[in-house]
Amino acid sequence: MKKLAILFTAGVLCVGILLAAKSHAPKFSAEKIREHVKYLSSDALEGRGTGQKGGDLAADYIAAQFKSYGLKPAGENGTYFQSVPMVGVKTLPETSFALAPASGEPLVLKNLEDYVTSNESQTGIADIDAPIVFVGYGITAPEEKWDDYKGYDLKGKVALLFVNEPISDDPNFFKGKALTYNGRWTYKFEETARHGALGTLIIHRTDLASYGWEVVRNSWGGERSFLKLDGTPKLEAASWIQQDVARKLVGMAGLDLDKLFQDAQSREFKPIELPVHLKAHIVSALRPFTSRNVLGMVEGSLEENKRAEAVLYTAHYDHFGIDRSIPGDNIFHGAIDNGTGCGILLEIARAWGVTKPAPARSILFASVTAEEQGLLGSEYLGKHASLLPVEPILDLNYDALAPIGIPEEVEVSGAERTTFYPSVEKIAGEFGLAIRPDAQPEAGHYYRSDHFSLSRVGIPSFSISEGRKFKGHDLAWGEAQAKEYVDHHYHKPADAFREDWDFAGLAKMASFGYALGSAAAAQGGDIRWLPGDEFEKALQKYRSGAIDMDALFAGHPEFRPVYISSLLYPPLARQTRAGGTVVARVTVGGDGTVRQVDVLKGHPLLDQSVKDGLRAWKFEVQDGAERSFDLTCDFIVPSGWTCGHQNASAVLGPFHLAVWGGPFCIEASTAIASK
Ligand SMILES: [Zn+2]
Repeated sequence: MKKLAILFTAGVLCVGILLAAKSHAPKFSAEKIREHVKYLSSDALEGRGTGQKGGDLAADYIAAQFKSYGLKPAGENGTYFQSVPMVGVKTLPETSFALAPASGEPLVLKNLEDYVTSNESQTGIADIDAPIVFVGYGITAPEEKWDDYKGYDLKGKVALLFVNEPISDDPNFFKGKALTYNGRWTYKFEETARHGALGTLIIHRTDLASYGWEVVRNSWGGERSFLKLDGTPKLEAASWIQQDVARKLVGMAGLDLDKLFQDAQSREFKPIELPVHLKAHIVSALRPFTSRNVLGMVEGSLEENKRAEAVLYTAHYDHFGIDRSIPGDNIFHGAIDNGTGCGILLEIARAWGVTKPAPARSILFASVTAEEQGLLGSEYLGKHASLLPVEPILDLNYDALAPIGIPEEVEVSGAERTTFYPSVEKIAGEFGLAIRPDAQPEAGHYYRSDHFSLSRVGIPSFSISEGRKFKGHDLAWGEAQAKEYVDHHYHKPADAFREDWDFAGLAKMASFGYALGSAAAAQGGDIRWLPGDEFEKALQKYRSGAIDMDALFAGHPEFRPVYISSLLYPPLARQTRAGGTVVARVTVGGDGTVRQVDVLKGHPLLDQSVKDGLRAWKFEVQDGAERSFDLTCDFIVPSGWTCGHQNASAVLGPFHLAVWGGPFCIEASTAIASK
């Protein structure tokens, strides 16, 4: 009976889509979503840990489903997989931290009690003996006219700072109470590393972090996973310290922590070097491994002589695996987080697989790994977006939706920041879904799920989740359910499958996401961030395929580029599929122009294009001194690229560029049209 009722509901919902997409709208099956969630959260999948057997089984299962729906492989070498090179880092007990004042006894700190730390630079042993510098919030935000560093160089130093951002009620200043990315702890580590810091100590205050020390300690006590080094600056000691420890630390310098907190609220704030050293010996166990994102696609029908645009759907499949130190059920089943998102993603994929006629633009599906380790699978996907067979124009993400009935509200936080929002409002209305604003913008939830990895490279992105109001219940009931989940199930083995769950609501959320995708696939490339949005610049960069100058010269402030053009992949090299590495010594004259380019290592078909491209680069004139750097350029024809693909460049690290090109085809437009 229940099943019939669900099918009936889904059937009614499909009318709206049918009209919108003018196609035979598929039916969305609550039962199929249930089966996916039940299997993915079963004991056999061992909690789908990143770099563990269970995680790999989940990836295999998702790829097999994609195949059964007739999706085209969109991974590497004709497979459904994109390899994500990672390293597990576990801080070992031999690690020691001490705060050493200029005179007097050092204060020895206790690991996990007083501090937690990870060596992001992925070396087995790191020794630090460096002065500690208080940098306020450690934020550089030109759009807010805010710079905590004021030109101060953190090279060879350790940063001390507060989490979050300057206190504000003004919506035009750091978005008022809402958290911007500048307030997230991940930003603090990234930004201080970009300023050259060896290590960073974030002062933990429960009120600012919105979670207690227990949470920090639990997630930092075991192995943490990182993307394999890609040239992005990293810290040897990415650390949190307890507020009391910070109080003692600044006390050694005769300063008061509360006063420093007040000082940090000002635009006039300048870094304060303390007469205290951090003496740290960090010992880590390193475990390199490869994890996988799972990628499948439905090809669009639009025939254009350029890289096809695509609507992207994402949902992470990983969870925390098994913790053998826990007695009893030690499997982190992750039924809701994120078995449900995967179930919905798969049901949407199945629906697109049977959609006739095919949508104008392609539909790409990515079930990503290592979300729980810090959005790593999606970070890799975003950083390598130009290597995908299609170009994502919008990402719709699903992460942890409770199967507790028919939602009457939907949360789409972030959608209101894009030009796609009017479509979202319209479709939500057709589904009888009220849009629920972010209940806790100060917690910065927007920056805590995979869509953010795509936003930060510029792609308009948001998550779709249920609100709090469910059919047949009042709002208080929904809020109580959400609280129950957070208090007793979230990130615990207790997030396990229940037979009495009602998946009809998740079928509705799948159907809603399908309708959004239909609208986006029809609307196409004019989906963008609203003017002034924090990701607007990133989108311009993404669309133009321009080189990220900051990343290319990271850690080398002596080079200040003012004009960098992309390097061309010569047609003859593409025609013969010739790839290779060119290393060029670039001499920049005192007037800021490129004086000379010497090829140190080369390739006959590629050298000239590198020389020609580099001669156009220009730098800010500083002291009139001549300087040189060695630039490495990897030319690659990615497997799976067909003719018509545009050139693309990406920064792989400081002074390291990748140039990608599709195979060159004569009369490329005819070749595409006849396929
Ligand atoms: Zn989670």
